[in-house]
Amino acid sequence: MHDIHFHTNLSSCAKRESSLKVMLKHLKESGVTTAGVANHTWDSKVPGASAWYAPQNVEHVLSVKEEYKALSEEERCGIKLYFGCETEYVGQGRVALKRESARLFDFVLVPAHHFHMKNFVCPVELEDAPGIRRLLLARFYECCNIDFAFGIAHPFVVSTAGRLDEVISGISDREFASAFSCAAEKNKSIEINISALYQKAASDTDGLPAEYVRFFTIARECGCKFHLGSDAHEVSRLAPERFAFAQKFAARCGIQLPDDPLK
Ligand SMILES: [Zn+2]
Ligand SMILES: [Zn+2]
Repeated sequence: MHDIHFHTNLSSCAKRESSLKVMLKHLKESGVTTAGVANHTWDSKVPGASAWYAPQNVEHVLSVKEEYKALSEEERCGIKLYFGCETEYVGQGRVALKRESARLFDFVLVPAHHFHMKNFVCPVELEDAPGIRRLLLARFYECCNIDFAFGIAHPFVVSTAGRLDEVISGISDREFASAFSCAAEKNKSIEINISALYQKAASDTDGLPAEYVRFFTIARECGCKFHLGSDAHEVSRLAPERFAFAQKFAARCGIQLPDDPLK
């Protein structure tokens, strides 16, 4: 099993005890054999970083390689580790990573909808479901056009202000099919974000969230490739039952997960 979207304490929003060493230990305990670290990154060469993003530049994020070098074989847990990042997309084609910097990473994940960053990623006045829906779709298409993006982090499932069903259910099968066909054509990997999925399942009565099953099944039918991402910022998000749940969800959608999505 793999997990190519976990954070370490190099991300400002991660728990301070979430060192690479600790995260690898818990990944191993959950049966993960291929992992990818993907900390939040804003390239200093790209103007416009928020105060929160500014210290989390390429050099900062790549320092995880030094951390890895200092680990013993035993501490590396036999896990194949890729060094990636989760950058930012703020609309109008503005991605927080230069192409030449993207080459320094094994893979780049682009989040299309960090809409909780109001007045930065998301217009402050955007509150209505149809408006959010339109922007979700538009940003998804735009991210598919970022040539160095390996995959789209947590597509359609974050930052809908507790109104996910209302927002997502208003996107028709046809609209999803068109968006995911674009992703397939551009060879962008669609993330099964375990944190978002698990959180949603906990509040749902149908076990496997129906709206998620609907659009991930459409993505599979469109020929998309997929990867798993715990999006863990702390070890509790790496619990074995979460990965087991994600595998059950993927199977329900007819998705076959690769051992190593980056190979
Ligand atoms: Zn994210
Ligand atoms: Zn993340």
